[in-house]
Amino acid sequence: MEISRRKFLGAIGASAVGSVLPSSLKADDTYIPAKDKLKGAEKIFTVCPFCAVGCGMIAYGKNGKIIGIEGDADHPINEGALCSKGGALLDLVNSEKRLKKVLYRAPKSLKWEEKSWEWATSQIARRIKKTRDATFLQIEDGKTVNRTQGIASIGGAALDNEECYLLSKFMRSIGIAYLEHQARI
Ligand code: SF4
Repeated sequence: MEISRRKFLGAIGASAVGSVLPSSLKADDTYIPAKDKLKGAEKIFTVCPFCAVGCGMIAYGKNGKIIGIEGDADHPINEGALCSKGGALLDLVNSEKRLKKVLYRAPKSLKWEEKSWEWATSQIARRIKKTRDATFLQIEDGKTVNRTQGIASIGGAALDNEECYLLSKFMRSIGIAYLEHQARI
């Protein structure tokens, strides 16, 4: 009889688990096979946010919650495979410790305060303007440079091509010369 590598490893795994677990743990009535758990879930095609490889993923959403994530077999980068970090993404998405609000700690303060996104974005804009105005250099060694060396921009792996394009356009338009991206670092 022909036996595939997958079936062979599955049989070894099943017999090893069976011999290690106490008999009370062998039958679990609450066990739901993955294919049934994901029945009726919405498929969301996305990209792993962790590193610059940018592996394609499929997230499964049901009742306002992500209930499963797997590698996208049709994605040209990873063809369905995920590293251990990407494979554990579901725990990050649903973690109780995941930050979903803006927290701000004022200089010399020991406390974090909850703030709105509007407050955070206007603070960032104000500070960029203040730093740019204070450090902007129009002429250097007789040449027009129109740049600031007081701000740097570092893009993250979660940004796609179009977002990187817009980010670099925006940064150059305000004179930022130190422009870097995680994928290159
Ligand atoms: S699955 Fe791993 S290799 Fe792929 S993007 Fe995520 S962290 Fe990077």
